[in-house]
Amino acid sequence: MLNGKTALVTGSTSGIGLATARMFAKNGANLMLNGFGDGGEIEKLRAGFEKEFKIKAHYSGADMSKPDEIAGMIRDAEKEFGAVDILINNAGIQHVAKIEDFPPEKWDAIIAINLSSSFHTIRTALPAMKKKKWGRIINIASAHGLVASGEKAAYVAAKHGLIGLTKVVAIEAANDGVTCNAICPGWVLTPLVQKQIDARAKAAGQKEREAEIALLSEKQPMHKFTTPEHIGNLAVFLASDAAESITGSAYSIDGGWVAQ
Ligand code: NAD
Repeated sequence: MLNGKTALVTGSTSGIGLATARMFAKNGANLMLNGFGDGGEIEKLRAGFEKEFKIKAHYSGADMSKPDEIAGMIRDAEKEFGAVDILINNAGIQHVAKIEDFPPEKWDAIIAINLSSSFHTIRTALPAMKKKKWGRIINIASAHGLVASGEKAAYVAAKHGLIGLTKVVAIEAANDGVTCNAICPGWVLTPLVQKQIDARAKAAGQKEREAEIALLSEKQPMHKFTTPEHIGNLAVFLASDAAESITGSAYSIDGGWVAQ
């Protein structure tokens, strides 16, 4: 379905980004991978994608908190593949603390990685998409882009901002064949969430599963995690021709979290 297209997925060495990259490769897209991790493991991943799906995969270790590295990553992808057709802004971090205890450097890092990095990838990749009259930009936001929770000031601010950015890009690119949408997951069991479960289990003296259920039921009517693969499938749909008139939307995939 996406043969000949190139998908760049930021933060694709783990969790949602990794599953999403896999889903795009499965559908025939070439990949530009990105994210942190062990060099050997990342190379195994990259080579594994090429072998399994008969596509081309490259990796950029660009740090999404560094605008010049971000621009370099987009340029490298365009050099390798001719274009970035599908841009998935996924890299993200979390820090949980009350606002008066929130370390300013954590605020800066979360805003940089979870919000500003998308401004930098989009502003660098969009001109070539517009020139080709085809492009898909998919921003991995969160239920926290639509509603708030306590102790997540930076994350909630960044994700609300990302949905705002999504809408602006959608409007500006509406007649250039480029769509821009956000995906808003609820709880997805990845390392980012596992840390929060571990912290809860420790603080409340709970077993892991008890802490999982407590975390889920606090927010979601459905007491089930969304899987990284569910997110990847939605992203592939948004990149398909069937979704060509969907733009500026924020898609909830959250077990009913924001329906309440
Ligand atoms: P994860 O921790 O499993 O993966 C995060 C990825 O981002 C990793 O590949 C990591 O290396 C990369 N990364 C972190 N900092 C980076 C930096 N400075 N430069 C480059 N790469 C960097 O997390 P995840 O749960 O898969 O989260 C992915 C996205 O989904 C995030 O934007 C997160 O906010 C969002 N999200 C997650 C959930 C959830 O429940 N897990 C829910 C809603 C939204």
